Amino acid sequence: MKPAPFKYFAPTTLEEALALMAEYGYEAKALAGGQSLIPTMNFRLAQPEVLVDLNHIAELAYIEPGNEGAVSIGAMTRQRAVERSPLVAEHVPLLHETMPYIAHPQIRNRGTFGGSIAHADPASELPAVAVTLEAQLRLSSTNGERVILASDFFIDLFDTALEPEELLVEVTLPAMPPRSGYAFEEISRRRGDYALVGATAKVVLDNNQRCQQSKLIYFSVGNGPVRAYQAEATLQGQELTAEAIQAAAETAAAQDIDPPGDIHASVVYRRHLAKVLAQRVLTKATQRVKYG
Ligand code: FAD
Repeated sequence: MKPAPFKYFAPTTLEEALALMAEYGYEAKALAGGQSLIPTMNFRLAQPEVLVDLNHIAELAYIEPGNEGAVSIGAMTRQRAVERSPLVAEHVPLLHETMPYIAHPQIRNRGTFGGSIAHADPASELPAVAVTLEAQLRLSSTNGERVILASDFFIDLFDTALEPEELLVEVTLPAMPPRSGYAFEEISRRRGDYALVGATAKVVLDNNQRCQQSKLIYFSVGNGPVRAYQAEATLQGQELTAEAIQAAAETAAAQDIDPPGDIHASVVYRRHLAKVLAQRVLTKATQRVKYG
């Protein structure tokens, strides 16, 4: 299939792109890496009247150190650049660990960091990582800028807080706090496929080696990143023993998620994977705090 006809603009500055987004609003779509948008246009699932191609806007592609060990990533930074960035590897190890699981190298060469977040596919890895790390998202329009937490950005299935005339321009990932550990795991049928279920964890221990904060975030089990609040609550103030983690994993799989069943995995199987993955990520995250 070929896409429906559309008008095409290739601005070279952010200012120009924002002016086009303001002019065309609901009729316009930003084109980033095109790895999700172009297939949906070819299938005619999306028929934007106007494409605003962001690929010629050099000012949107960068990875820079921010305050206190944070790292800021421009929306048009290719996923492959994030994967290979020494700055990301040093300061945002959870993101570094996650990148190779996104699709295949060819897709990561073209796909962008901001495109994956703005697209908000519930099976995508990056939205879950952004929520786990409490990323700050900078959104821009001709009316100005606003910064929003990742947890407030993902609203529903492929639905975000972005207004029609807004662009995501930057994502800032705070540094991991002291005495913290992280982990990422996913199960997919083949390497590079979207995950049947995936999970990320971050734990922070207090001076007595007890859990001061934990985050357990799933993807591919709901309409966006799903936080396992009840499981996290069972860990608060506890020593993160194998038994405590096992109990939290059971709570997460039974009470925190309501996964869909489809041709790839039944509800029962997804819950089973969710339990196993919670156990793995919480164990690995805890070991990384304790043993470095
Ligand atoms: P595009 O496709 O260009 O855009 C996607 C959407 O986001 C569009 O609606 C667009 O308007 C909007 N958008 C893009 N940038 C902005 C912006 N700066 N501001 C506002 N809106 C914006 N992804 C995964 O996460 N995990 C996988 O395992 C995975 N497997 C894949 C396998 C295949 C075979 C393919 C083709 C893709 C796969 N993807 C996967 C998707 C891939 O990672 C895409 O790159 C990503 O989802 C979208 O990024 P993009 O830069 O290509 O965005």
